[in-house]
Amino acid sequence: MSREYLKKAPLTAKSDASETKKIVRTILDEIEAGGDKVALDYAHKFDKYEGEIILSAETIEAASAKVPEKLKRDIKFSHANVKRFAEAQLGTVKDFEVEVIPGFVAGQKAIPVDAAGCYVPGGRYSHIASAIMTVTTAKVAGCKNIIACSPPRPGVGIAPAIIYAAHICGADKILAMGGVQGVAAMTYGLFGLPKANILVGPGNQFVAEAKRMLFGRVGIDMIAGPTDSLVLADKTADPMIVAADLVGQAEHGYNSPVWLVTDDRPLAEEVMRLVPGLIDDLPEVNRDNATAAWRDYAEVIVCSDREEMAQTSDEYAPEHLTVQAEDLDWWLNRLSCYGSLFLGEETTVAFGDKASGTNHVLPTSGAASYTGGLSVHKYMKIVTWQQATREASRPVAEATARISRLEGMEGHARTADIRLQKYFPDETFD
Ligand code: NAD
Repeated sequence: MSREYLKKAPLTAKSDASETKKIVRTILDEIEAGGDKVALDYAHKFDKYEGEIILSAETIEAASAKVPEKLKRDIKFSHANVKRFAEAQLGTVKDFEVEVIPGFVAGQKAIPVDAAGCYVPGGRYSHIASAIMTVTTAKVAGCKNIIACSPPRPGVGIAPAIIYAAHICGADKILAMGGVQGVAAMTYGLFGLPKANILVGPGNQFVAEAKRMLFGRVGIDMIAGPTDSLVLADKTADPMIVAADLVGQAEHGYNSPVWLVTDDRPLAEEVMRLVPGLIDDLPEVNRDNATAAWRDYAEVIVCSDREEMAQTSDEYAPEHLTVQAEDLDWWLNRLSCYGSLFLGEETTVAFGDKASGTNHVLPTSGAASYTGGLSVHKYMKIVTWQQATREASRPVAEATARISRLEGMEGHARTADIRLQKYFPDETFD
């Protein structure tokens, strides 16, 4: 490889999580022992909130009334696109049955989990789109009990637009509680909620750690770390658009990596020249995040050709991957490790993040090398069944008995024997 780093990140997104683990373990244990009251104490401690915990119909209506009509239309537009995409995914989940041997039928069924707990982050930004992504997909999957959970803003509660989005996308309950206490409330079934079978949605390190610790007791979609994005650009790319796309993703957080991979050195240099000005132009909080992310986590890599660019990208396995280059079909066929792919200048990560229909809950920190993002499949259990005629069960029982004995599992073997003796009393089996 001849790749050259015009900018190398001094830090990597992996940090020491031992302090976070300690905090989360304590909160989970205390809430499990103390129930609703302890969860409320933590809501007060972290979010300075003492209002309604499970939002009433009146509160939802009042919040909806505060959302401007234009924003409501945008939320409905995004919801319709996410729903359409999720419905198409649902169409790919097929129940089937197959005659494994004559008379012996085995089948697969996809069954949605009953209760989905959708975490909608709300500490730093109001993640309206996370409500749309998680709740809509759970609804399309067929979950009967959908809980949307989001941190209340001190004194005022969940942002009205999040409440409105969660409601129109199909949330059955809206829980005003953030962080570990919110995740715990959904898992343990506090405040009269059904116990969640699966927890989905992004969140900060406390939310991610709580999901990791509760996994097993409850299903999870994935462990989401800081969001990351990679742009692949060749000489045909517009440097200003590449720079804007990098800055747009760097604003997520101080530790959100953005990477540019190109085979065109002048383009790389021009993008590096443009980025600081675009960051400076952002509002203060966003500027602080993007400044730190660009300084500490961003990389600019020049490769010798597009094959090396693709190899580099697959190695990074980014959450979001943008291609601004010629021959988009080649890239679509060649690339294999990403959470969501954005082909061509006419689309961008923010479209997928907010409104174009694909899900924005995606694998981070290289997890795209082994998994995709949130989809209807994550809410479904793929289960199997079987049924046989007595005649068809015979060769299976004979093989089962022999394999079981070889394994030393006599009890298993006898469940086969007893059937053979009952169905074929005149025969002997070895
Ligand atoms: P958040 O809702 O995840 O966390 C807020 C909660 O954190 C609070 O309610 C509080 O209970 C808890 N908390 C804060 N400080 C704490 C402490 N010291 N100890 C224990 N608990 C504490 O909101 P956030 O913090 O803004 O984080 C949102 C995250 O979600 C970001 O990392 C963002 O990048 C990520 N995100 C990811 C995606 C994706 O698809 N990958 C999408 C949207 C957002």
